[in-house]
Amino acid sequence: MAWLGKISLRRFLFALLFAAAAALAARLWTHGSLKAPEAGLIGAAAVLAVLLARNDLSPLTVLCRMADDLAQGRNKSRIREILPGEYGRLAQSLNRLAERIDNDFSRLRRLDEMRRDFVANVSHELRTPLAAIKAFSETLSSGALAERETAEEFIREIEKSADRMSRLVDDLLELSALESGQRPGARESVSLMRAAAEVVAALMPLAQKKQIVLRLDPFPDMPDILADKGQMKQVFTNLIDNAIKFTGDKGLVQVRAELRDGRETVFIQDSGCGIPAEDLPRIFERFYRVDKARSREMGGTGLGLAIVKHIVEGHGGSVSVESRFGEGTTFRVEFPAPLP
Ligand code: ADP
Repeated sequence: MAWLGKISLRRFLFALLFAAAAALAARLWTHGSLKAPEAGLIGAAAVLAVLLARNDLSPLTVLCRMADDLAQGRNKSRIREILPGEYGRLAQSLNRLAERIDNDFSRLRRLDEMRRDFVANVSHELRTPLAAIKAFSETLSSGALAERETAEEFIREIEKSADRMSRLVDDLLELSALESGQRPGARESVSLMRAAAEVVAALMPLAQKKQIVLRLDPFPDMPDILADKGQMKQVFTNLIDNAIKFTGDKGLVQVRAELRDGRETVFIQDSGCGIPAEDLPRIFERFYRVDKARSREMGGTGLGLAIVKHIVEGHGGSVSVESRFGEGTTFRVEFPAPLP
C-alpha cells in the first residue's frame, strides 16, 4: 500500500510539472516570447517530468529490464527501485546474481591476464638460452670448430644454456603438477629434522665451495608431521640452495626450528645480500626475481619460491620471509603439529 502511495505521488508530481510546462508553453504561444527565467522553468519542468515518468515503471517492467540487461551482458546494471513484496525479493536476487556474474567476469579477466603473463614469461625465459645455443652453434659451424680452445668454450656455453632450459622445464612441470592437483602427494609420517638434515648433507659441498658455514642446529623434540617426504625435501632444498646462492663467500647459513603454540616452525637464515623491502611482497610470485640477470647467471628459474609456497600451503602450513637488504634473510616455514 505504501508503495502505491508513492506511485500516486509520483504521478501527481508528474502531472503538476507537465501542467506547469504546458501553461508556460501556452504563454509562449500567446505572447510570442518568454523571459529567460520562464524558459529555464520550462526546461527544468520537462527534465523532471521525464525523470519521474521514467521511474514510474511497473515492477514487472523493472524486473524484465534487469533480466534483459543480464541477458545482454550488462552486468553492472542493478535495480535501484524499491519494489513491493515478492517483486522486491526477486529484484534483490537479480541484483545478487548480477553482482556474482560481475565478480566472476572480473576473476576470469584476471586469470586470463595471469595466463597471458605466464606464457609471455615462459617464452621469454626459453628464448634467451635458445638464442645462445643458436648463436654458439652457428659460430662453431662457420669456422670456430677449427680453434679447439674456442670450440670447447662454446660447447660449455651450449651445455649451460641447455641445462638452464631443462631446469626451467622441470620446474614448470613440477609447478603445473602441483597446481593442477595431479600429484596430491603422499601422506606419511615425516620428521622435519630428518628431512632438513638430508638436504643439508646433500648441499654441504655447494656451501663448502663458497666457504660458507652451513649449520643445522638440533631441532627441539618435535612430533613427526603427516606429509610427503619428497616434497618436504624439495622445500628445504629450494630454500637452503637459495640461501647459499645469495650469500657471499665465508658467510653463514643456519637451519633451526622451534615448536610453539602447536606449530612446528623451521627457520632458514642466511647472512647474504638480503631482499629490498619493496620486493618482499612479490617474492613468492612465479618468475619474480630481485635481479633477473643475477638469478639467471646463478642458474635460477624464478620458480623455486612459488613451488615452496604451493607445497607448504598444500600441507596446511605457511611460509613467510623477513629480510634486511645487505644484512641477510630468514625464511620461516611452519606446519600445524599433529594432535597428540
Ligand atoms: P630463483 O630461481 O631466482 O632463485 P626463486 O623463486 O627461488 O627463484 O627466488 C626468487 C627470488 O627471490 C630470487 O631471484 C632472489 O632475488 C630472491 N631470493 C630468494 N631467496 C633469497 C635469499 N635467501 N636471499 C636473497 N634473495 C633471495
